[in-house]
Amino acid sequence: MDHHRSHALFARARELMPGGVNSPVRAFKSVGGEPFFAQRADGPFLFDVDGNRYIDFVGSWGPMVAGHNHPAVLEAVVRTARDGLSFGVPNPLEVTMAETIARLVPSCQMLRMVNSGTEATLSAIRLARGATGRARIVKFEGCYHGHGDSFLVKAGSGALTFGVPTSPGVPKALADLTLTLPYNDFDAATALFDECGGDIAGLIIEPVVGNANCLPPRPGFLQHLRELCTRHGTILIFDEVMTGFRVALGGAQARYGVTPDLTTFGKVIGGGMPVGAYGGRRDLMEQVSPSGPIYQAGTLSGNPVAMAAGLAMLELVQAPGFHNALEATSNALCDGLEAAARDAGVPFTSNRVGGMFGLFFSAEKVDTYAQAMACDVAAFNRFFHAMLERGVYLAPSAYEAGFVSSAHGDTEIATTIAAAREAFRVAK
Ligand code: PLP
Repeated sequence: MDHHRSHALFARARELMPGGVNSPVRAFKSVGGEPFFAQRADGPFLFDVDGNRYIDFVGSWGPMVAGHNHPAVLEAVVRTARDGLSFGVPNPLEVTMAETIARLVPSCQMLRMVNSGTEATLSAIRLARGATGRARIVKFEGCYHGHGDSFLVKAGSGALTFGVPTSPGVPKALADLTLTLPYNDFDAATALFDECGGDIAGLIIEPVVGNANCLPPRPGFLQHLRELCTRHGTILIFDEVMTGFRVALGGAQARYGVTPDLTTFGKVIGGGMPVGAYGGRRDLMEQVSPSGPIYQAGTLSGNPVAMAAGLAMLELVQAPGFHNALEATSNALCDGLEAAARDAGVPFTSNRVGGMFGLFFSAEKVDTYAQAMACDVAAFNRFFHAMLERGVYLAPSAYEAGFVSSAHGDTEIATTIAAAREAFRVAK
């Protein structure tokens, strides 16, 4: 494949942007090599500036659940943009958006729109702290909640020790307030709450972890957390930035039948535009400014063009059978990849939940962070490049979930599996 235009752009980009990118994973540091620069996208495909076409299983990291450049989304954006790009006063589309999310995710009795998943999670944590008057929060190893200071923290040496910043610039004093637990570990969660549950303002979790590959919750795990939070007066926050409208119409909370106090959204609800939201119990949301004292604001929040894109996308995911079809696509893809790996003699397994999936170079099934970290990263990286050469774009990191869309048809899945049959062999 020719990449000379991408190569030249990357050289220019590196002069002026850290690592040549505006978000780290795009730099391909984890898999090695250089990123390609996109020219356009359509349905299941990305096209780069050198004219190469890729079947895309990243989908802009999640928003494109109905495929790229869907005509209904595009039309909504263009039509709305003609009336003005931003007003700075309320607009009707914000109301429709809040009504739509509240109808599809009933735990969200009230909502606030923001501009990214990061804004949503840091606002939700502020609300949990403000509403409870407590300072500590709990997160899980391998879960990513955006780049807010309180979330860039990993566990200390034991579950009950204080958090350690994972980025310079996060004050130790703040990191101390973030406690980290192992995902899918019932006993560790119980022990932590026994020790200091009364000090914990909020517990935030990706109900299906999509930032440590793709790890589904063990049966009863989310219920267990719900019970602990209820018993100790802790606000349970589901970060559904990735899972929202992707693993089921009502998100992971509908799929697993667990009701959080607050939920954060992003990705799909923006249809490809920069959007986030947080919502939840009315008594909590009423404490947000200006109806309550907990401050949060945004110049472009509820932007009409972004609302129009998101609403068009949310219309598409409400088509009957949308999520069953998405899950069938994930299953066809993952079953085919597992068979191809088996035939090539490569230890490999996969997870799938609705429209998201995880690929693991491991002989054993994987549902914990420790297991995900123990997979063969070098094998993944070789496989990634062998697939890219064959026109299939997987997430450029062994630790990221993959995404299918309703635009991925039988042909794309069959082409991907045929590519994988070769890639598993050459990458061995
Ligand atoms: N929460 C989850 C679960 C995410 O996957 C992400 C981003 O990937 C975020 C929060 C942060 O969202 P954003 O990148 O829009 O700030």
